[in-house]
Amino acid sequence: MKIGVLGIQGDVSEHVSAASNALQFYGVKGEVITVRKKEVLKDLDYLIIPGGESTTISRLMIRSGIYDEILRRVDEGMGVIGTCAGSILMAKEVVDDDRVTPLKLMDISVRRNFFGRQRESFETELEIKYLGKYHAVFIRAPVIEKCWGDCEVLATIGDNIAMARQEKHFALIFHPELTEDYRIYRLFLNLRE
Ligand code: GLN
Repeated sequence: MKIGVLGIQGDVSEHVSAASNALQFYGVKGEVITVRKKEVLKDLDYLIIPGGESTTISRLMIRSGIYDEILRRVDEGMGVIGTCAGSILMAKEVVDDDRVTPLKLMDISVRRNFFGRQRESFETELEIKYLGKYHAVFIRAPVIEKCWGDCEVLATIGDNIAMARQEKHFALIFHPELTEDYRIYRLFLNLRE
């Protein structure tokens, strides 16, 4: 299995370590690489888009040609996992910021910086479908306001959505790379227990 972590900006090395640890934990042979050039996407099974600054990631992704190459590789079957800022890039619709050009891979609409200044970062227990209780870390998190079509809600927070899946793709508004609970990577990478 070959996994790439988009290395433009944000929590890149944390995701590389967490995904490598998850492969090891579940005894799956594989490789995790950092993606800074579009050529590197060519034989990936999964791409993880980390948290960071969605406007910056969006701009540099388009300029480098990575944006178009991701869409081409998705047509060939690559799965994409967007965490925090990455979830914004997965959306069909970003309701409050037209500086972000999302990949539109999932039928979700997302609002940036939803939790505001008072709750810039916090941790809470979520109930994730197929996993159960999960301790989640939120940092200047967006929120998924709506999910439609074939998209499945996997976790909620208050009246909103914290995690969703559509086909091989996932969007989550928290940071799985910051906890040592690899069960969520099992879900992303479709690993056996
Ligand atoms: N607030 C950031 C954005 O809108 C996301 C925060 C994060 O990824 N930790 O891009």
